[in-house]
Amino acid sequence: MNLNCHDCGDIDKLYRGCNGGGKLAFQYEGKAIDFCPVKLITTETKGYIMFYNWYKKNFLPMPGTIAQQPIKIMGAFDILESCEIEMAKKETHEMLR
Ligand SMILES: [Zn+2]
Repeated sequence: MNLNCHDCGDIDKLYRGCNGGGKLAFQYEGKAIDFCPVKLITTETKGYIMFYNWYKKNFLPMPGTIAQQPIKIMGAFDILESCEIEMAKKETHEMLR
């Protein structure tokens, strides 16, 4: 997934609404949005995603054991993992239709 809206492809721009008026409704904090959700990704969020990808390869973001990692980072990893599980469920559901 691109993390910069400028990198969204032509089809993404149309459906996500990179230039406004997206054809797919995304949910953000319980509300439907019609603009590209990539625009919501901040520098901090990108950092968490980068650390999460390293974490999945068994690298911890900070020195020490897993119990010594900052609680905020581990909480972010829980959220990202939940998102991955949800996306995998949706993909499986789409393939079975
Ligand atoms: Zn976009």
